[in-house]
Amino acid sequence: MDAMRDAAALEFDLDTGRRGERDSHLRTLLCELTGAEDATVVNNNAGAVLICLNTIGAGRQAIVSRGELIEIGGAFRMPDIMERAGVQLIEVGTTNRTHPKDYAKVIGPDTGLILKVHTSNYRIEGFTAEVDGSQLAKIAHDAGIALLNDLGSGTLVDLASYGLAREPTVREAVAEGADLVTFSGDKLLGGPQAGFIVGRRELIAEINRNPLKRALRVDKIRIAALEATLKLYRDPDRLAARLPTLRLLTRKQSEIMAQAERLQPKVTSMLRSRGYDVDICGCLSQIGSGALPVDTIPSAALRIAASSGTALEELAALFRTLPRPIIGRIQSGCMLLDLRCLADEQSFLESLAEGTGHAMA
Ligand SMILES: *Cc1c(COP(=O)(O)O)cnc(C)c1O
Repeated sequence: MDAMRDAAALEFDLDTGRRGERDSHLRTLLCELTGAEDATVVNNNAGAVLICLNTIGAGRQAIVSRGELIEIGGAFRMPDIMERAGVQLIEVGTTNRTHPKDYAKVIGPDTGLILKVHTSNYRIEGFTAEVDGSQLAKIAHDAGIALLNDLGSGTLVDLASYGLAREPTVREAVAEGADLVTFSGDKLLGGPQAGFIVGRRELIAEINRNPLKRALRVDKIRIAALEATLKLYRDPDRLAARLPTLRLLTRKQSEIMAQAERLQPKVTSMLRSRGYDVDICGCLSQIGSGALPVDTIPSAALRIAASSGTALEELAALFRTLPRPIIGRIQSGCMLLDLRCLADEQSFLESLAEGTGHAMA
């Protein structure tokens, strides 16, 4: 917060007294945390992918596996972004299997780069094959072209060490030899909206010279918040306690269950007179948000049962109109309130009391 309140050395280099880069502190942090030579930041990861493609691939071809031509929410479709970046898409392989030779055989004089994309919101299972980052880096470098790896969410830490499913880390993608790696500031990373680009120094310099950079740049408040978020990653032992995203993802089911037990009698007393029953059940939280698309984590919920589907819809509508809306999900004819992300029990109860016309003690 101090960083937001105080004047910041925004485009001023305190060492030399000359005009500096607005993201120089972030660059240092990103290089330290990823092992990359250099780094820069733009408005979001969609912008990061756009500017990378445009900088290294405009007027040339980019090779992508047919298994990785993703659409993510908000009409971000890889083929469309590539077109807007001025890059010609060359699809290789098949939906479920792509091999090294598929890439190698289409590389020609017009090829600008190989693009690898994290399939963030779906998973292809069964008879599958993909070419991993180090193989792709070798194929690209043998041909004298660049490898851009769009990690989507990206993570700076090994999530398996926090009991979550494994995701490739940004450091691994850099070490595999990708020339540029892009990832989001606000997915698993847990910061404000941003798109990070890390990789080879001369490519980052070219990106910084691209006129699109100014159009995609980040304001000083977000830079301050990003810096504060990234600094937490310097201390992995305390990260799960200090970073809300990771704290919530790593909450134990037993702790959430205890919270459900605390809340259930109070919520029951507010809803019973309206004909709703409230009990407790185990449930599964979905991680989503551009990473771990099919992984779930055990959690606990308040389960609200109604006399009819209409009554349940009415309750959902009422909850949505509260000053602090309560959003549940309907499952097997009941409304589940997964408590994983409920930090402030008091205001939850106050909000509920207001909506149901119960005075709070
Ligand atoms: C989410 C995502 C993006 C876009 O990132 P934003 O930060 O939401 O703009 C791009 N590529 C992949 C693979 C993603 O998962």
